[in-house]
Amino acid sequence: MPLIRPDIDRMAGYVPGEQPQESGWTKLNTNENPYPPSPKVAEAITRAANGRLNVYPDPLGTQVRREIAEQFNVEPDWVIPANGSDENLTLITRTFCDADDLIAYPYPSYILYESLAEIQGARHERILLNADWSWNWDIASPIIERAKVVFLPNPNSPSGNIWSDGDLLRLIPPNGVLVLDGAYADFADTRTKAEILSRPGVGERVIVTRTLSKSYSLAGIRSGFAIAHPNLIAAMRKVKDSYNCDSLTLAGTLAALQDEDWMLANVDRIRTTRARLTDSLKQLGFNFVPSQSNFVWATRPNGGHREIYESLKAQKILVRYMRFPEVPYAPGNLLDGLRITVGTDPEIDCLLDALNGLV
Ligand SMILES: *Cc1c(COP(=O)(O)O)cnc(C)c1O
Repeated sequence: MPLIRPDIDRMAGYVPGEQPQESGWTKLNTNENPYPPSPKVAEAITRAANGRLNVYPDPLGTQVRREIAEQFNVEPDWVIPANGSDENLTLITRTFCDADDLIAYPYPSYILYESLAEIQGARHERILLNADWSWNWDIASPIIERAKVVFLPNPNSPSGNIWSDGDLLRLIPPNGVLVLDGAYADFADTRTKAEILSRPGVGERVIVTRTLSKSYSLAGIRSGFAIAHPNLIAAMRKVKDSYNCDSLTLAGTLAALQDEDWMLANVDRIRTTRARLTDSLKQLGFNFVPSQSNFVWATRPNGGHREIYESLKAQKILVRYMRFPEVPYAPGNLLDGLRITVGTDPEIDCLLDALNGLV
């Protein structure tokens, strides 16, 4: 009898971007926000740390749920906070997917969805996107018909493009749920909250997820939340750890959300730097997808992406080299490129200087 579950034994495991623990790196590889969070976050966490750490946190995160409900124009029973948005993605597979159920997601996209499906032991299928990151409905529609859960980052990663409401509505599975992963939604030209949930017919068919890791500069405290019909949230609550969010995280999350203006000012700065980065990449001969996010997907007509990544790394500049096999429209069926996080202006200058010497 094998000790390890065969599903786990077989899978490769998700590999997150490198996190060097020493200083001196220009880190443009995991879409963190280069600016610090609101100072009110550290104040709130310090207050909580000096408070009652001997007792368990509020299992439901009541205050945080109220704040989110107000900002997203729903009732608090539509909200579930989590230990990072990735926790909610896991809760979703565990709540909705048996082994026979199908989990679907666009490809190329966030590869974690595939790992979560493998861990759950559910069936999974990629929905191959067109070369311009639009939907091929001949491929998508039959998969959506059969899917129990469709994961969809909007804006997408690694491309940074955003899909229209019309597309989103077509991607709702008739017998399942569409998970709209809004990790980068705050960086888009049109900032949406959870308006889609009040569209006629959506009801229990859509879950919106958000994270504080990117726009709110809080990747270090692990905080995210999901919004959906209370029937779905109540089911997810049964699956979660009783105390999935600790007291410090809940305190920091509340303070961050209450200082939305701080987040928006950082988002503005990042959007301005993004425009400068894409202009410069173009002059250096890169192709890029117009980004609605805090990163840019850059490719070169003649490839050599891995070499560029290695040379940058040798200069202590980290970008994300990504490769997506089984993409039929790409040379050798392999789509690869560089996903570059929009850092501060000095960080982007440092990157551009290095690229100037390389290409
Ligand atoms: C970063 C990211 C997440 C993870 O968010 P956490 O709250 O840090 O777990 C989820 N989805 C996408 C598409 C991301 O890029």
